[in-house]
Formats: sequence, structure tokens, C-alpha cells
Amino acid sequence: MVSRVIPVDTFDLVIFGGTGDLARRKILPGLFRRFCAGQIPSDARIIGAARGEMDNDAYREIVAEAVREFSGSHHCEDGTLEGFLEKLSYAHVDARGEDGWETLKQLMSRDGRIEAFYFSVAPGLFGDIAKRLHAHGMVSPTCRVVVEKPFGRDLQSARELNQTLAQHFDESQIYRIDHYLGKETVQNLMAVRFGNVLFEPLWNSQYIDHIQITVAETVGVGGRGEYYDRSGAMRDMVQNHLMQLLCLIAMEPPAKFDPDAVRDEKLKVIRALEPVMPHHVVRGQYMAGEDEDAHPDYRTAVGDPRSKTESFIAMKVNLANWRWAGTPFYLRTGKRMSARSSEIAVVFKPLPHTIFEDVEHGTNRNVLAIQLQPNEGITMDVTIKEPGPGGMRLIDVPLDMTFAEALGPEVEDPPDAYERLIMDVIRGNQTLFMRGDEVEAAWAWTDPIIAGWEARGDVPKPYESGGSGPVEADQLMARDGLIWREITQKRRRM
Ligand code: NAD
Repeated sequence: MVSRVIPVDTFDLVIFGGTGDLARRKILPGLFRRFCAGQIPSDARIIGAARGEMDNDAYREIVAEAVREFSGSHHCEDGTLEGFLEKLSYAHVDARGEDGWETLKQLMSRDGRIEAFYFSVAPGLFGDIAKRLHAHGMVSPTCRVVVEKPFGRDLQSARELNQTLAQHFDESQIYRIDHYLGKETVQNLMAVRFGNVLFEPLWNSQYIDHIQITVAETVGVGGRGEYYDRSGAMRDMVQNHLMQLLCLIAMEPPAKFDPDAVRDEKLKVIRALEPVMPHHVVRGQYMAGEDEDAHPDYRTAVGDPRSKTESFIAMKVNLANWRWAGTPFYLRTGKRMSARSSEIAVVFKPLPHTIFEDVEHGTNRNVLAIQLQPNEGITMDVTIKEPGPGGMRLIDVPLDMTFAEALGPEVEDPPDAYERLIMDVIRGNQTLFMRGDEVEAAWAWTDPIIAGWEARGDVPKPYESGGSGPVEADQLMARDGLIWREITQKRRRM
């Protein structure tokens, strides 16, 4: 089976921050991969806009280097890279001043094609850029803006950002990226839930015991120490990525697969979140690794010996609605963990009664595990009879639901989240982007939790580098008679 690549309509894409880390690591290599796949029309144009002064050739050289380094298995042969580079031009633009804006305007085709502006810059510049795009007549009713996380650091700042953008753009023009939503498997989760009759009848507290969402990283704060220490795992990961995953798992079936229908249902999930009890949250900070110079402890890494910011968080979350009352969601994310792994595990209830005597080897628990990174895939643990003549012995085996054999080799190299999301921007499809009210609702739930820590002077628990988080996180589960799933980087077949 060959996956279909449907070319998008032609476009001009301006990347503000076109020389930055995100543009070089994700946006431009992603566009290159779409170019290789034949999805980008021959007359589409990409304009890098940033503070540095350089000509088009110098910019193309930066992009060529980034593409070679970060575009994965796509080889730059047979003039493909050159073909891609021809689409690129560069504009020196000062977001905070008047320099460069008229030149940028001249560079744009302005022939009625789709126009998209990617704000890959610090959020403090969103307002300046929006204002100047407007002042220089570059904002049309059909143009689109893409904004990156962090979208605020609390409800107040998120509201201000929304208001700033709303002064110049309609909500239907604003694409707030959460790259977790662009992952193939996240979309497959919706296909599995809403495209099959098998799952939805069981998708509730009557059949689902609990749900675990883990996003574990092996890296520490690295060079982002100062930024990270002002944010922490709650703001950096839970408020956006983990909550988005929770929404997709917990939402009611939307009436149709359209942006507002899906986002309305996600919003209802966020609004149904119960306030979190302090004893349902465990915060941690990683200790030094064996090689202390290479892997210093969290406080050394951020340069603040008294920092109270968490690099790990585990929490038990409840939803107050008919579907989920009684089924807890356990969220966990941290840095310097044993493996890089993002997984959603839907753990079904045990059988009400077993007819088999030897259940030692089978737990009789179905688990639907959705692995998001590093390898995307979906498996369902099912209990079967162990093959052979030894009587009725049961074992649990994972049923691979990604069907590599049926779908062919191209599923082994699915598009990166950024590739898909940028193409969705050009197509004008907002389904996988966060709406302003969703972001605000997420902060409205998060803010009191953070305020509680600050009021109590809560200090994160130390945890071992390369482990699975503080022991208190295990105790959180043990109190409910549960254990966390192992954090593994197991290769699942796509
Ligand atoms: P960066 O510091 O590497 O790059 C910033 C870019 O902005 C540069 O191209 C710079 O020239 C440009 N810039 C700065 N001031 C400017 C001005 N006054 N006028 C015009 N251009 C200006 O930043 P980054 O890591 O690429 O991050 C960009 C945005 O994406 C940030 O909001 C960040 O939080 C977000 N983000 C980054 C990552 C990542 O992996 N880097 C991941 C998620 C979100």
C-alpha cells in the first residue's frame, strides 16, 4: 500500500526566527522532507526572517547545513537539496524596529496565494511582529500565523498573548502548535477510538481501571537552565503536552472530525478536571549522574543552589464527568530518567471472574499502550494460551496494532510532527492546533496547583539521575495498589 501525498496549494511561508534553533532543527528539515515527498508546489516560497544581516546565499548555506544534519533518512542527492534551496530567500528584519519590513513585503509574492507567518521567536516578540505585519499591510483576512510554545506562563500572560494576537488576527487564522498533536500515533489513537466499534463501548470507568501518561527524557536541562528554572516540568510539559494527550484520550466522540468539534470536546475535558489534592502530586529534582561534571545535579545545572523548580512531576488526576468518575489518570514527566520514552497506557480492569486455574503467567489485564517516542506504535496486551501441549497455560502477549506488514515499509518512516503540522497550516486545518480558550482553560487548572506549592514553600524531592523519579512517586501509585509502567525505549515495529 502506498501512502498518498496530496500536494498543498501554493504558498509563501515566512519564518520569523528563521536562523534559530527550532527553525534549523525542525521547521526547515521538515519542509525539506515534504519537498522530497513531492508535497510542496514548484512555485511555493519560504522566506527566513531574522535579526542577523546576511544575503540569500549565506542563508541557504545555513539551511543546507541544517537539512544535512537534521533531516533524518532523507538524502540530499541528485540536486534535491539544491531544488529546495532555490525556494528560499532571506530578509533581515528587526521585530522591535522598522528595519527590513518593506524589504520583506517586496519579497512576498502577493498574488493571492496562501500566506503563512511562523513566529519561531520568543513569545515576547509575537506582539511586535503582529503589529508590524499589520502596519506594513501584510495581514490579509486569509493569512495564517503559527505560534510556538510556551504560550504564556500562567492564565494572565496567556490571556494577554491571546488578546495581542486577537488585535490583528481572527482565531481562525491562529495556529498554536503543540507538536505532540502532530505525531502519527496520536492521530492513530483517534482513528482507533473513533474508527472501530470495538473500543468505544469499553472506553469508560466501567472497563478502564486507570490510565498512565508518561513523558520521560534522559537529558537534563542542558543549556536551557535559566529558561527551564523559571518554568519547570508543570509549565513546560504538563500544562501543554500531557494535558493535550489526556484530552484526546478522555474526550467524548466529536460529532465530526472538524477543528471546532474536536476542540470543543477537548475543552470540556479540561473543564472537567478536578482540582488536584496536594498529596496527589510529587515533584522532584534530579541528582548528579556518576560523572558529576558531565551530568551535574539540577540546582548546579540551573545555577541556583536553592532552586525549588521541579524537573520531575507525577500526579494523580481525576475527571468529574460520567465517563471517567472513578478512573484516575496518572501523569508523570521528568528529565534525566532511565530512558527517553513517551507512552500512554490504558489499563483495563481485571476479569470479573476467571475460569482458568493457572493464571500465574497471565495477568488477564488488557493494556492498550500507545508509544509516542522514540518509536511510534500501538500495542494491545492480550491474554492467550501459551502454545504447546502443556495444558491450559495463559500468557500475555502484545498485539501489534501498527500493521507494518499490511501497510508497507513507508510506515517505518512517518512524517515528523512538524512536517504534518506545517502542511496542515497551509491546508488551513486547525484540528491539531490548540484554540485560545483551551490554552486558557489549561492554565486556569494549572495555576492554583503552582500557587499552592509557592504558598506552602514546597521543595521538590531529590531523585537519582537515570532512574524513574523519586520514591514518593512510586508511593503515590502504591497507595492505590498500582505500579508505574516500566520506562523503556522498547523498539516497537511500525
Ligand atoms: P533561538 O534563540 O535559537 O532563535 C531565535 C530567533 O529569533 C533567531 O533567528 C533570531 O535572529 C530571532 N530574533 C531574535 N530577536 C529578534 C528580533 N528583535 N527581530 C527579529 N528576529 C529576532 O530560539 P529557538 O530555540 O529557535 O526558539 C524559538 C521559539 O520556539 C521560542 O518561543 C521557543 O520557546 C520556541 N520553541 C523552541 C523549541 C526548540 O527546540 N528550540 C521547542 C519548542 C518551542
